Amino acid sequence: MYIPSRVCWRHLRQILRQSCLRNLSSTTQDVPHVCIVGSGPAGFYTAQQILKGHPGAKVDIVEKLPVPFGLVRFGVAPDHPEVKNVINTFTTTARNERCTFMGNVHVGKDVSIEELQRAYTAVVLAYGADDDRTLAIKGEDNPNVISARSFVGWFNGLPQDKGLKVDLDAENVVILGQGNVALDVARILLTPISILKKTDISQHALEALSRSRVRKVYLVGRRGPLQVAFTIKELREMIKLPDCRPVIHKEDVSCLKQVIADLPRPRKRLTDLLYKTALEPSDTDTRLWAQAAKEWELRFKLTPAEVMEREGKVTGVKFYINQLQGDDLVNKVAIATSETEEIECGLVFRSIGYKSIPIDPNLPFDERKGIILNQKGRVQDRPGLYCSGWVSTGPVGVILNTMTEGFETGKRILKDIEEGVVSSEGKPGSQAIREKLQSAGKQIVSFSDWDKIDLEEIQRGTPIGKPREKIVDIEEMLQVAHS
Ligand code: FAD
Ligand code: NAP
Repeated sequence: MYIPSRVCWRHLRQILRQSCLRNLSSTTQDVPHVCIVGSGPAGFYTAQQILKGHPGAKVDIVEKLPVPFGLVRFGVAPDHPEVKNVINTFTTTARNERCTFMGNVHVGKDVSIEELQRAYTAVVLAYGADDDRTLAIKGEDNPNVISARSFVGWFNGLPQDKGLKVDLDAENVVILGQGNVALDVARILLTPISILKKTDISQHALEALSRSRVRKVYLVGRRGPLQVAFTIKELREMIKLPDCRPVIHKEDVSCLKQVIADLPRPRKRLTDLLYKTALEPSDTDTRLWAQAAKEWELRFKLTPAEVMEREGKVTGVKFYINQLQGDDLVNKVAIATSETEEIECGLVFRSIGYKSIPIDPNLPFDERKGIILNQKGRVQDRPGLYCSGWVSTGPVGVILNTMTEGFETGKRILKDIEEGVVSSEGKPGSQAIREKLQSAGKQIVSFSDWDKIDLEEIQRGTPIGKPREKIVDIEEMLQVAHS
């Protein structure tokens, strides 16, 4: 700073003060403030990367529910508590002094993406997949055809699904689809109550499942055993289910013997397990399975054609029998023939994948793929707008994949900030958004409010031997949060 030699002390003080203020205001202005929409793995991992990669950046995580963690809380099965350990990492991120959790704020309803973009340096859409794919077949709208997504929400205490009517007064169940969600649904239907009651499964689901008459679950795929979408760990769990017998038909898998060795590694191990379960079970398994009261069965090359009904009740599913075409063993395509087959059942679960929805009519969105149009996380034609996780890739992949993707989106944002592609100038941050929400009477849930809900749930679970009893009502969550 240039200081004239004959300056008086009063003048010098004034120059220094102005310089300090200028520095301070430019620092405040240059501090990037990023808003992340959605507090699932994609939201938290993107936040983690931004906070780590920029020493001053601030991150607000906006979540429509009063509680954080997305599918880690409302998707991951209750008998998989070890998967939920990622919550510890997310909690560390949320407790960073530069991170703010704003729960109970529904973007697209309470506040628009445009408003967020006016307030923040960058906005990341990480709001997951809130809908599911449908089959568009006759009988699909019968109340006993249940979306796996809703069923998962129901047993995991998702408020919107707490009132789902699940009629378990049926011996035979058909699950359409052969992914890991289908296996989760089958496992929850077949696991002994004595095991489930020690998990954080919702009480309403536990009560309904304890009255269940379900004895047999068919898992039906449109392609063959080489194309199943589930993975080995989940298959192994199904094979080891107590008091339950796997039925894998020898004729479906015996021809796989000669191809197993040439398959890529994860597929090789999975196919080997399918083969051995059907053709080379151990003596112990054979003995246990002979005594089992329940069973699950894999059925292949069947495309759902119609849900059969009598007097409003589901009686079965009619399928087209498929042939597989294509040279690539693992990527064969199912072609339906005119031949059909029926499987009798009283309850059907549709588990053919989740689907994202646009939360703003102006969002560039691919309706067919169910994703926001983006180039590696940068939303098409919308500078300063990013996306991460299932809403950007489609509803496939485990938490590890979502983590990698979230980190990459975070890095891209940091690069754009560094290169001046996005700027914090004229972006006031969260204040204007908070004022709008507060004047509309919205109760924002902070992370320390969530701590109260968390503690209350753990306390409710302890006397009944569960890790927690989830609160399933939004009003009750808000009462506890603001108590
Ligand atoms: P989500 O986890 O869905 O998070 C999205 C968040 O955005 C949610 O909190 C949602 O409430 C919020 N949101 C939605 N709309 C709005 C809005 N308009 N405004 C504000 N917030 C909004 N992976 C594993 O590794 N192991 C497992 O055992 C496993 N089990 C799974 C079980 C099921 C049933 C499913 C469906 C998936 C499972 N996965 C598992 C995969 C894993 O859950 C996903 O990879 C991951 O959750 C995707 O993260 P995401 O952040 O994109 O979406
Ligand atoms: P998914 O893995 O994509 O499986 C969907 C299943 O539905 C496939 O068998 C698919 O068959 C079938 N399908 C799709 N469209 C169909 C149609 N029109 N008619 C008939 N069948 C159809 O989806 P998901 O099970 O919902 O799982 C989503 C992701 O979450 C996956 O990546 C999964 O691994 C992950 N997840 C992981 C865990 C875990 O790690 N324990 C648990 C749950 C979920 P095609 O292959 O023929 O299309």
